[in-house]
Amino acid sequence: MSNWTELEEKYFMRTFKRQPIVIVRGKGSRVWDENGKEYLDFVGGWAVNSLGHCHPTIVDALNQQSRTLIQVSNQYYTTPQLQLAELLVENSCLDRVFFGNSGAEANEAAFKLARKYGRMHRDGAYEIITVTGSFHGRTMAAIAATGQHKFQNPFVPLPDGFINVEYASFEAIKSATTKLTCAVLLEPIQGESGVNTPTNDYFKQVREWCDENNLLLLLDEIQTGIGRTGTLFAYEQLGIEPDIVTLAKGLGGGVPIGAILAKEHASVFEPGEHGSTFGGNPLVCAVGYATMKFILENGILENTREVGAYLIAALEGLKSEFDFITDVRGKGFLCAVQFDREISADVITACNERGLLLNPVKPDAIRMMPALITQKSDVDEAISILKDVFNQWK
Ligand SMILES: *Cc1c(COP(=O)(O)O)cnc(C)c1O
Repeated sequence: MSNWTELEEKYFMRTFKRQPIVIVRGKGSRVWDENGKEYLDFVGGWAVNSLGHCHPTIVDALNQQSRTLIQVSNQYYTTPQLQLAELLVENSCLDRVFFGNSGAEANEAAFKLARKYGRMHRDGAYEIITVTGSFHGRTMAAIAATGQHKFQNPFVPLPDGFINVEYASFEAIKSATTKLTCAVLLEPIQGESGVNTPTNDYFKQVREWCDENNLLLLLDEIQTGIGRTGTLFAYEQLGIEPDIVTLAKGLGGGVPIGAILAKEHASVFEPGEHGSTFGGNPLVCAVGYATMKFILENGILENTREVGAYLIAALEGLKSEFDFITDVRGKGFLCAVQFDREISADVITACNERGLLLNPVKPDAIRMMPALITQKSDVDEAISILKDVFNQWK
């Protein structure tokens, strides 16, 4: 057997802080490592595997489409792309779709669309207001939009035109707005900085402000979209409609796909202004279509609301038992546990040993993004492992 850790050390770029586990197989909410050890997976491929691992619906769609048509060019019509586009539009407040391959790419398309809109409708305005603690991806414009210096500093100069203001402060957005502003970009819930949830009032105020000033409201639903928070889109729970939504992670159930959705007035690309070689190819779209249809037709949103609430209630229970837990945050199957000390790394190691995979989202907080098919028995198992682990700090 190869020593995979040594191969990684020798051949791979030093980009990831990995857990010392080589995962070779997955099924449902479980994965197995190279030694056959089983784990309950509450990382879910970083909020990607909405139907768990190797779900028969996804496997069937992959098999069938791979025998039919994998890739042609966007010079031609292909059916899975249009079926998925129809499904997204008919189940959202948005009117048009473009497919790319990742979250960052979807956001790049959103920036281009916002700038084009500013050029057409706001006298050449091009600035996009974003907030601190946000995460929008790793490309140059996406890190410029991301309100966290650690992602930006090694790579300056970054593209111009991103104004980063205080998180969850409507006043901050208001006072940063100038004649150069064309859009505001927000996440319904900030996933990467620890599952932060602003109030609905905030989103309503921002929506009204955008309407009054003819600014586009862009929602990055790359992590929250396609059922993660218990509704197909998180915006449904905010009491507002965005002009543009970006999607990726959960959309393909595990295959790489990204999408930008826009209302008609914001769909301002002309032929030739945007494109993608792989974006919207039949293989990933067939899988995305099968995934989304399964979510809509098999009570997966209901399961996410019900079992997600059960998970959060159980974590609240741990909070009342262990006084170093200071907060439990989240919605549906996107949640975090906040500690009063920096123990995430130790918690993750202890959970690994006991067969539970979690994400150390911050030195003092852990995050859970289990599959949307997770059952109450899975939650009970995770909670009992966590309890055992937390006991060492009691
Ligand atoms: C993961 C994520 C991205 C980036 O997606 P990639 O597919 O990694 O490019 C952007 N925004 C949010 C909110 C994310 O969670």
